[in-house]
Amino acid sequence: MKTLRLRPGKERSLLRRHPWIFESAIAKGGGDSGETVRVESHEGQFLAWAAFSPSSRIRARVWSFDEAQRIDAPFFIAACARSIIARARFDVQSDGIRLVHGESDGLPGLIVDRYGDTLVAQFTSAGTERWKDVIADALLRETGLAKLYERSDASVRALEGLEPATGWLRGGAPAQAGDAPPPLELSIHEHQWRLTLNIAEGHKTGFYLDQRDSRKRFADYAQRLGFKHVLNCFCYTGGFSVAALAGMRAAGAAADGHVTSIDSSGPALERARAHVALNGFDVNRASFLDADVNASLRQFLKEGQRFDAIVLDPPKFAPTAAHAERAARAYKDINRLALQLLIPGGVLFTFSCSGGISADLFHKIVASAGADAGVDGYILERLGGAPDHPMTLEFPEGEYLKGLVVMRKG
Ligand code: SAH
Repeated sequence: MKTLRLRPGKERSLLRRHPWIFESAIAKGGGDSGETVRVESHEGQFLAWAAFSPSSRIRARVWSFDEAQRIDAPFFIAACARSIIARARFDVQSDGIRLVHGESDGLPGLIVDRYGDTLVAQFTSAGTERWKDVIADALLRETGLAKLYERSDASVRALEGLEPATGWLRGGAPAQAGDAPPPLELSIHEHQWRLTLNIAEGHKTGFYLDQRDSRKRFADYAQRLGFKHVLNCFCYTGGFSVAALAGMRAAGAAADGHVTSIDSSGPALERARAHVALNGFDVNRASFLDADVNASLRQFLKEGQRFDAIVLDPPKFAPTAAHAERAARAYKDINRLALQLLIPGGVLFTFSCSGGISADLFHKIVASAGADAGVDGYILERLGGAPDHPMTLEFPEGEYLKGLVVMRKG
């Protein structure tokens, strides 16, 4: 068994059960890519079993803090089972659900989403890559499903020295010669809505499941406050647009409401348009702009347009804290423009999914956007990821998605 010996004092975060061991914390030792190593303090005290990753700055990720635990197939079966069972206790109003959320579920570098009867997994660490076959079998066994598609094409894989890998891992072969392979095009029921995705081509594993409950919240606001003119920025496949239309319909205002959706991805916009029709809404009540959000917001201001509600759900501007400063300026810019575009009493749903921007910093950025815009606002709510993307006590980095609901003062 190979050993990692830490530098003096570097055991502290592990004693708090934080699962990352940085390169700078290691005095000596190592292993092959993904190999299980025994992690010890400088004094030789056992700390954890971890997967070694020779080229990553996060040089090892912990599988277990229990010295008696063997890291073998039963370990992965039990870990997958725990994660899946926990979902049964979470409030998830969809058959699209995240079953494993990496570090938060004790499986660093593993993401597993379930869309109906199909699983989609991302293996983004050397450790999960090494145990891929065992994990794949464990997931099928614990869900009772047969189809597992791999979407290991996230850029973070490069940091672990791993090439992208995509395609069916299990259940991809047709049952009989001549049969079609399983579909890549799937649909889910989220709250009362039907939404579609393509697991091979969509972002992440195909869909932004983490925003599920914020979309529902947006529908609730649209209904209660009677939104008529809604702007959904960075709309992807239009989840918030469908939510807005649903809220308007529930308020009896579907006939005179309008939702404008902006994204820079043509295929995403096509799907957003299809989602409007699929959910029985009048496509004349929705428009779709293939454009840059920043430029569009400036254009709307110039034209004197105003909105009752705006969603800002941009991509990750700051993947790590090192990018925080530039990202902060980008967040501030779009938030300032959006606040200026709201009518008094209008509502902004604004998000950051950047790991490098804390909830506190995001709050400050939006506050300073308000100051620059000359707009005062009530913070009605703080939002986060849906419960199947859990935050944990021991891994604060799990809080990547944060949102604020701000009402412009009248
Ligand atoms: N709110 C969406 C998820 C948004 S993901 C949902 O609920 O599903 C972020 C989106 O921003 C992606 O679809 C991406 O294509 C888009 N995007 C990134 N940069 C952009 C830009 N400068 N202007 C417009 N859209 C952009």
